[in-house]
Amino acid sequence: MALKPKRSVAELEELRELTGDENGAQRVAWTDTWATAREWLRGKVAETGAVEEIDDAGNQWFTLAGDSDRALLIGGHIDSVPNGGWLDGCLNVMAGVEVLRRVAADGTPPLTVRLVNWADEEGARFGRSLFGSSAAAGSMADQDELRQRRDLNGISLPDALHEHGVDLDRALEARSQLENAVAYLELHIEQGPVLESMDLPLGVVLGTFGVERHQITWRGQAAHAGSTPMDRRRDALAGAAKLALEIRPIAAEVGGGAVCTSGGVVCKPGIVTSVVETAEQLLDQRHLDAGSLARLLSLAQDASSRFAEEEHIEVEWEKIWSIEPILFDERLVELADESIREVSGTSHRLPSGPLHDAAEVARAGIPTVMIFVQSLRGLSHTKLEDTKVEHLELSVQALDRLTTKTLEAFA
Ligand SMILES: [Zn+2]
Repeated sequence: MALKPKRSVAELEELRELTGDENGAQRVAWTDTWATAREWLRGKVAETGAVEEIDDAGNQWFTLAGDSDRALLIGGHIDSVPNGGWLDGCLNVMAGVEVLRRVAADGTPPLTVRLVNWADEEGARFGRSLFGSSAAAGSMADQDELRQRRDLNGISLPDALHEHGVDLDRALEARSQLENAVAYLELHIEQGPVLESMDLPLGVVLGTFGVERHQITWRGQAAHAGSTPMDRRRDALAGAAKLALEIRPIAAEVGGGAVCTSGGVVCKPGIVTSVVETAEQLLDQRHLDAGSLARLLSLAQDASSRFAEEEHIEVEWEKIWSIEPILFDERLVELADESIREVSGTSHRLPSGPLHDAAEVARAGIPTVMIFVQSLRGLSHTKLEDTKVEHLELSVQALDRLTTKTLEAFA
């Protein structure tokens, strides 16, 4: 049976009708609408003969047995943010269904092929993204904290999970699902402007950015705006302002796609008649290369010491959060590149700014790669999210080629 990418698009439209409204997709994880979508998916996969299993974290698996127990995984997430787009997460799943149909029709595959619909990628209701994939990857270290989480209606996370048959205390037992995995593939919309700006339908994702997030506190002296001469001021905001601009040349110097953002500055006393005494500045730095990320940070720290000296103020850094870059598998990147070139002529390699379930799987040591398909206007997490139909069809074809190549290479 031939692959039918048009069917994937038609099914995505069907899912939109079933689980969306005039404001967009409403498949928030651990809700009735989400359960409806999972039920609907079950019906779509049934004809392939793949066997369904819900694991201890609520992930929905469909397994097509192969000649070997070793498994090729294809993943996505059918959950959405409230008022979400029609493609984020479910394109991956529906393309995976179509590939599963094609593989099943071709006879027993050399490796077992498994499609996974990860539970709660978005974290829209309880603020904890990558729930199911982090449980399967064994990296869910915040279970104690998750027990305390509540949604806007005061319903606790464990209670919401319980309604869908999931026991938070057992979620990490989902780890056994990755035991036989030899490779993990994920297609996703880019959710950014890069491929559109290059006029390319598809790209290979090299990995997800490492992140360094810090709060920088600058301390000067509050002083009267009228009586304090300019050369006698110790203005905390001056340090923050200099750093907010200095991160541009620092990002340019480090290069390789470095991005730095000073996302906010809170000034105290914060009144028009006083020099700023303290300025609390937020800084987010990202890079795909760990060494380059470390350099972004140290260059910014050196610059801040220099500015503190120039302005006769003090500066202090405090880490808010950080994560290492997660690199995808070189061999799979090559195969994805080939697959994309075969279906659309040109490929492009790019990093992912957002984290994805694929990053959790890669962190667990499973060779992983992602394919991005162009997003129109770079928009996502809104009903305006869209991708050209011909690009959606190409993306299904690319995932299918990549599946075939991975089955050959990893069997
Ligand atoms: Zn997504």
